[in-house]
Amino acid sequence: MAQTKDYYAVLGVPASVSQDELKKKYRKLAAKHHPDKNQGDPKSAEKFKEISEAYQVLGDAEKRKQYDQMRQLGAFGGFGGGSGGPRRGGAQPGSAGAGAGGQNFKFEDFDIGGLGGLGDIFSSMFGDAQRQQGGRAGNARPRGPERGHDIEATLEIPFRVAALGGKVPIELEVNEECATCHGSGAAPGAKIITCPECQGRGTISFGQGGFAVQRPCPRCLGKGTVPSEPCPTCNGSGEVRVRKKVIITVPPGVDTGTKIRLKGQGGLGSKNGPPGDLLITFQVDADRFFKREGLDLIAPVKINIAQATLGSKISVTTLDGKKVAIKIPPGTTSGKRFRVRGQGIKKDDRVGDLIVQVEVDVPEKLNEEQEKAMRDFAEASGLKY
Ligand SMILES: [Zn+2]
Ligand SMILES: [Zn+2]
Repeated sequence: MAQTKDYYAVLGVPASVSQDELKKKYRKLAAKHHPDKNQGDPKSAEKFKEISEAYQVLGDAEKRKQYDQMRQLGAFGGFGGGSGGPRRGGAQPGSAGAGAGGQNFKFEDFDIGGLGGLGDIFSSMFGDAQRQQGGRAGNARPRGPERGHDIEATLEIPFRVAALGGKVPIELEVNEECATCHGSGAAPGAKIITCPECQGRGTISFGQGGFAVQRPCPRCLGKGTVPSEPCPTCNGSGEVRVRKKVIITVPPGVDTGTKIRLKGQGGLGSKNGPPGDLLITFQVDADRFFKREGLDLIAPVKINIAQATLGSKISVTTLDGKKVAIKIPPGTTSGKRFRVRGQGIKKDDRVGDLIVQVEVDVPEKLNEEQEKAMRDFAEASGLKY
């Protein structure tokens, strides 16, 4: 058994993406995850492999067409569970909720990695699905409501929004049912006619290995009917691209790679089907002051040699803007850490600490008075200047 992924989700693009946009997105991702730039990072290497695999299929218009057909027919999870129940259209991640691994789709018996015979893979898969459904001929594509597509997006957020939580507005491009034809793809006044390609069966048969197998009709995509004239607004696809504004509520304690699922914020369903989900992966910007270690916040603070040697008190601003005083004991060396309990990142019912890390600043220039003091110090330590 091999596994593959939803290639559109892998590249973070909607299924309606143009070949040009797809290429652009692929190049961006490939540059980001290229092994030359990420040496010794197995995650990036894996990602690079994934996006290359996805682009090998989607980047080729012919392979993409075949892939889209498989996808539309519910190859990704629709058939595997046997018959019955409403079919959910399009990409369908395996598990709900935050966390990794939600995007794996299982392909029983097929290895799409070979890429050689997508058509064959497709047809034998479809044959299997038919047998699973009790060998029912035709009727390849249920005509009931269809759930909208899931949309996956990466959202870059400022460090402090990630740490404290907040709201971030985003704009998405989603596919909506075409208002002109209400998703039918037919021009106003056009008649719905029996598909001339398959004579309404929804499938066409062709020989393979001595017996005939069925595959969905490419003209009507298994519906058995086509409009006599396609809708001019959507060119017969039944869908249009629209921009949609969504306010993302960022929970406190989010880190790079954290995923959230916003139910019903994905692509709109058709024929009164429910909308898909929006899957957000956060990417957290660096802060100019704090660094993050788990739930702890590391705050590097410079002190001068006198403060380090004689001891002193310094004031540090916490993430939420409070001032805390830190006592620096005499003889503090560079790299020493001081922990302020409970002033780190809060996540669920846990909270990290603020860790103040001192760095002793050796002055590059001294004024006359300071220089004299230093020379006196050196002399008192038995050094000659
Ligand atoms: Zn239309
Ligand atoms: Zn047809």
